[in-house]
Amino acid sequence: MHVEVRHLDKHFGQFHAVQDVSFSIAKGHLIGLLGPSGGGKTSILRMLAGLETPGSGEIIFHGKTVNHLPPQEREIGFVFQNYALFKHMTVFDNIAFGLKVKKIRKEAMRDRVRELVELTGLSGFEHRYPHQLSGGQRQRVAFARALAPEPQLLLLDEPFAAIDAKIRQELRTWLRELIERVGITSIFVTHDQDEAIEVADEIMIINGGRLEQKGTPWDIYKQPSTPFVASFIGESTIIEEIGQLKGFDHHGITASARALIRPEYIEIGPAHEFRLLSATETGTVKHMHFRGSQWMVEVEVGTNRLITYRSLEKDTLEVGQDVQVLVHRAYLFNDDESWIAENA
Ligand code: ATP
Repeated sequence: MHVEVRHLDKHFGQFHAVQDVSFSIAKGHLIGLLGPSGGGKTSILRMLAGLETPGSGEIIFHGKTVNHLPPQEREIGFVFQNYALFKHMTVFDNIAFGLKVKKIRKEAMRDRVRELVELTGLSGFEHRYPHQLSGGQRQRVAFARALAPEPQLLLLDEPFAAIDAKIRQELRTWLRELIERVGITSIFVTHDQDEAIEVADEIMIINGGRLEQKGTPWDIYKQPSTPFVASFIGESTIIEEIGQLKGFDHHGITASARALIRPEYIEIGPAHEFRLLSATETGTVKHMHFRGSQWMVEVEVGTNRLITYRSLEKDTLEVGQDVQVLVHRAYLFNDDESWIAENA
């Protein structure tokens, strides 16, 4: 279903946990709520679910305000990190639970459970109990149970947080495909940026109770609207005044702006590799770390440490060596604006 939230606001005592948050979600989209701990992600999710009452603002499903509906009337499915399965029930009965509550006929119920068992790759496990399953399998049962009553909105709060890295990676791809097949509008809370980038159609960055930015992962990476967003998504170096770098030092106000530089916009190498020497700085290699396919290189330029990557044989650069540094592009910020500057 189509979800709309207008000016959602919530205090817990004096604490302003959610501050004037508005957004809408197209039917069938998977949205990642991403941000640091305590930012207000779970509070937003709980208000959508009807588990928490908004201080003010409107929650609109299918064009109708649902603020006054109890959770069971909101057509919502949940999967929470520790939303435990019923321990004394088999996989089959766990999945059937929501259908029994709805008093669905036995045969229809059996068909629906079978459909979900297949959809979530649990065939053959129907008669096992939760303690006879792996963490990943249990979480798949939780998804099947949430989807069984055909909810219109699926709310996921850190569903993979308790699962180890390798399986978590597989479950992300699995979830992406599952949501695409079912076509259900879903909201996914995580504090893991890789997870959000990989899984979500769109990301909302939540910080200090506010929605800082909403967009596709690529848009947010490419055009962060605040320094917080820029530093939260992807790697970067912050420079207090861009005018400290050659190529950006003669643009009026621009020269005094704060800048954020992504590793891919920094080129480094020995002097003979560069033709545009007028726009390059001289820097010193301070650290090199091997990161799998590439080396991360930290270069000191004046008082700044720039981070970039190079695919190279280690012995073509070494710690302590002087190199030329060319910054091609930077995101600039002042108090109320952000813009992009290219090297002159
Ligand atoms: P996390 O990733 O740690 O779960 P979050 O972004 O989901 O964080 P919330 O759980 O929404 O953040 O919490 C936002 C803030 O509101 C926190 O500072 C939290 O302590 C506070 N808070 C949440 N629920 C309550 C409550 N029932 N009473 C008082 N304060 C609360």
